[in-house]
Amino acid sequence: MWIGIDDTDSLEGGCTTYVAVELIKEMPYDLIGFPRLVRLNPNIPWKTRGNGAIALQIGVGGGGKIEIGEIDNKKIYCFSYKKKDADEEEIEKLANKIIKEKAMKDSDPAFIISKRKLPYWIYKKAVRSILTIDEIKNEIKNTIYKGGRGLIGASAAIAWRPRDRTYELITYAKNKWIDKKSVIEMDKICKTTFNNYDYENDYLAILPKANSPVFFGIRGDDYQELKKARKIVRTSPYKKWLIFLTNQATDEHLQRKKIKDIKPYESVIVKGIVKKEPYVIKGGHVIFSIYDGNEIDCTAYEPTKKFRNIIKQLRKGDEVVVYGGVREEPFTINLEKIEIKKLVDIYKKVENPICKKCKKHMKSIGKQKGYRCPICGSKAKEEEAKYVKVKRNLREGLYEVPVIAMRHLAKPIKRMK
Ligand SMILES: [Zn+2]
Repeated sequence: MWIGIDDTDSLEGGCTTYVAVELIKEMPYDLIGFPRLVRLNPNIPWKTRGNGAIALQIGVGGGGKIEIGEIDNKKIYCFSYKKKDADEEEIEKLANKIIKEKAMKDSDPAFIISKRKLPYWIYKKAVRSILTIDEIKNEIKNTIYKGGRGLIGASAAIAWRPRDRTYELITYAKNKWIDKKSVIEMDKICKTTFNNYDYENDYLAILPKANSPVFFGIRGDDYQELKKARKIVRTSPYKKWLIFLTNQATDEHLQRKKIKDIKPYESVIVKGIVKKEPYVIKGGHVIFSIYDGNEIDCTAYEPTKKFRNIIKQLRKGDEVVVYGGVREEPFTINLEKIEIKKLVDIYKKVENPICKKCKKHMKSIGKQKGYRCPICGSKAKEEEAKYVKVKRNLREGLYEVPVIAMRHLAKPIKRMK
């Protein structure tokens, strides 16, 4: 049996994963597989803050078990398969109780209890574009459900099938003291973890951005190493930690598109040639455009910090592949990554042509119109002047925004092998 939960957090704080922890704490059944934290389309304007939903599979567990957390001195395990299903009514009662007690008062929580897994297209649409309640009504009609818009996230979380996947070990506490040096130490020792610390901007990325019951979260490819990483980080004591299986850092929100097919609120991968050269607008945002027969603006926003210095070096004719979310107003691609495929050669004129007869420099007639000797009047073409190749302060390759600006779903270059 699957439980999907969403929209329990709100602008005042809270976190959907925290409600899951409280639910697991009082759960009279076993977890089958890891609890799942599923991030959805980050471009939707009406999303909940972290835009993450939760799915748990529960029942009577069989096979091997793995320790995946601890909640108030109780060790939490997950099992490899389900021997017997849970009782629906019992779970419904518990879900109602926990959400009433633990969800933020101004949130709009939703849950779904389903005997079967929901179809994959629900997840795919919810992570890549816009899914409406109407579209899923038919799929959830035989489940027990409660709530409004949050049902979209709750159903998408149940519908997720991990292809690429990562893990996040999340801890919870009220008192939050953490030794930054120990986080850097952990980052260096635990090679399969990522986005712990932003060295360029001196930013501890394992801490939540806003007010939240979450203390810190360590992301990585190997859950065993996450348990080791947790012990390296020195902090004030906490009594709750749990490992989630997630779609974070997978780029599953992205889809390859031609510019003419791009729609607002999607996230795209687009290949094109730089058309409008980069310029800086008020606030420090850097804008350029790419062309593939149609044209679209791309923006490196101010929070992407030094990434903007790379973008500023682009020149007309450079061949690039951009990765990012599409804003409606202004209609632009909000850059997450860029691959510079091919840099154009740029030449700068250093000397006008010399008249063969008079041995004097000729004068320009006008832009792109060629040259004329001021003494004898003989003419020369534009390309007869002396040019030198300008050194480009940029290399071909893949670049990403710094950790401080990275989105949950964006796959770090570190994982792109
Ligand atoms: Zn001359």
